[in-house]
Order: sequence, then C-alpha cells, then structure tokens
Amino acid sequence: MAALAWGAATDPGRIRQENEDAFVAEPMVFAVADGMGGHQAGEVASALAASTLRDRLSNGATSLDVVVAAVVEANAAIFQTAHTNAAQRGMGTTLTAVAVLPPLDGRPEQLAVVNVGDSRVYLVRGDELTRATVDHSYVQELLATGHITEAEARAHPRRNIVTRALGIEPTVRVDAWLMPVVRGDRYVLCSDGLVDEVDDEKIHAIIRSHPEAQSCADALVTAAVESGGRDNVTVIVVDVVDGIDPAEIAGIPADASDDDTVSLTRTTVISDEPPPTLEQPVIASKHQPTKVQQQLGRQMTLKTFLIALGVAIVAMLVIVFVAAALTDGDDDAPAPSTTVTETTVPETTVTETSEPDTTTTTVRPTTTTSAPTSTSPAGATTSVP
Ligand code: CA
Repeated sequence: MAALAWGAATDPGRIRQENEDAFVAEPMVFAVADGMGGHQAGEVASALAASTLRDRLSNGATSLDVVVAAVVEANAAIFQTAHTNAAQRGMGTTLTAVAVLPPLDGRPEQLAVVNVGDSRVYLVRGDELTRATVDHSYVQELLATGHITEAEARAHPRRNIVTRALGIEPTVRVDAWLMPVVRGDRYVLCSDGLVDEVDDEKIHAIIRSHPEAQSCADALVTAAVESGGRDNVTVIVVDVVDGIDPAEIAGIPADASDDDTVSLTRTTVISDEPPPTLEQPVIASKHQPTKVQQQLGRQMTLKTFLIALGVAIVAMLVIVFVAAALTDGDDDAPAPSTTVTETTVPETTVTETSEPDTTTTTVRPTTTTSAPTSTSPAGATTSVP
C-alpha cells in the first residue's frame, strides 16, 4: 500500500451559486471533475465521473488500462444519461485523476495519471513544479502553436473552451501516464478555478509554505477565492510519504520540455472501445467544443453529411442534363426527337465527374470545423447551391 497523505478542498467561489466541481479523495484514487452544462446538468456530469472512478478504482487498479477503462466508462455513462434526458443534453465534464497501481507480479508500485479536459495535475519534486498533464483547451492550442504567451492565455476571453471532455461523444481519448512512486513527491490536482486566478509561480510559493497536505489544499482554494473567485475551485494535494529514493530516478528528466508541459513516461492511450450508442456519430471528433458550443457552431453529423451529399448529386445530375439538353439543342436543333437516345451517352460521364465535385464541397467544412483556430465555422452547414 502506498504511503500517501492527502487533503482536499472545494469552494463555489464568489460569483456562482452552485458548485459544479466534484472530487474523489480516497486511499487509492484521487480525482477532480469540473462539470459543464446548464440547469445543474454540469453537477450531474461531474458527479457521474466521480462516482464511476470511486466505484472502479477504490481498491486500486491492476494496470494503466484499467484506469483508462474507468474513464471511458464514465464517458459512456454521462453520454448515455445526456441522451436520455433532454434537460441534460450537452452536459459534460473534465476529469483528471491519480490512481494507485499496487505492486503486481514483481512490478513495483506505480501511480497512474489520467486526464481529459482542462483540469490539471501538477507534480512537485524537489524544488521543481511541473505540469504532469496537458490541458485540452483552446488556449493551450494557441499557446502550443506560439500564437499567445502564457500570460495572455490566463487572461484570454476564451480560456474556458475545452477541446476534450467526458460525455460529449460516445468515445473519448484519454491521456495517461505511469509515474514511479517517489518519496517526497507532491501531486496537486485542481480545476481551472485555481489556475485562472493564481499563476504557477504563486501556486508553487503556496505549496512550498504549506508542508501539510490539507492546509496546502485549503490555502490554494483560499488564494483562488481571494484573487477573484470567478469560478468553482477544487484542489486535492497528495503527498508521497514513502516510496523509492528520489536519487534513484535522477536519470528521469523532470522537466524535459521548454513549454512547461512535461511528460515523464507518457503513453497517450487512444480508446478504441466500441461506442455505446451510434445515435449521433460525429465526423470531426478531435476538437469538440463544449463550454461555449454555440460560439463554435454546430458539428456536422453523418446524417447531415449524407443528406448534403445526396442533394449535391441530384443537383449535379440536373445541371448536367440541362447542359446536355442545351448543347444537343444547339447542335441538332431541327431534330429534337433524336436527342433522347443521345443523352444516354453523356449520362455515364455525369456520374464520374460529379463525384469529385461533391466530395470537395462537403468534406471541406468538416476539416475547417476541426481546425483549432477556427472559431466560427459558419460554413459547416454547407448549403448546396
Ligand atoms: Ca471550472
């Protein structure tokens, strides 16, 4: 059993009446979920994520796959609930978690870190604070591509748009990492209510001045509320009391990258679980907007795509028939009756030429929708001329 000490704190903040964050803080699993969706639906989504992880992982996980499977199951549960209850349609949640993998078949004890969305796990090792997870957010994409700075990201008007969340699609991609259990390591899980109010430098200073886990969690939440408290804020602090000597993992780079998105032993796991329902397949699945869905326009569903394709083919056929009739009319004006047999010849060329045309008109909006920088893909609803 891992020798861990932990503390957790949450606060609705100064603006919001309700708290849509949920968390799990149990001996073998720690998680923060930040719900989104109107009329308390966000609370339902985050609570479902938390309860699924509690149910599946409270006795520890046998492998990283088991932890990822629990996240995938939570996604399916939220998606299913959202699609059977009109009031909860469109609800979703972020989920970030640390789970204990007990020793198994000679394998040492390990920690699994998983993430979907823009809640975070920080790792403090020695005197270094690093981010153990990478945000799935619009501003993170702008940051990663050099369009904005870290300071601009924290003040960006669209900083709360996430590009991945649980409950939005039938399947979900989960980032997952395996970490060694290192004595003295401190993991800090938090919702964006902390990071939007308190920068990394101040977070690190508070962590350093609070050696006890619960007082550290309390102090971080208090700092977020006192700095504005514009959002719900949740923090879990997990201290590794006993584990391998930090010197033993000295060879593992703790801060290998220059953009603060550190990956220690990163394995991005792409879930290939069969979707629980196929009601609403989404073509552009990589960047599904959630929090400000209406701003980003509607995703094009397969149904819309097929209808557009059908309409385009029919329109194309009509145009070519008319064109063929006109040219025939010009060429053989005195004998219109013979054109009936002649039109059967150009008809075969119609189907050949129409295919590439319809493909380009319908596919282009789909790729535009998935581009991270496009904020209003209004053309996604491809009205065929
Ligand atoms: Ca939030």
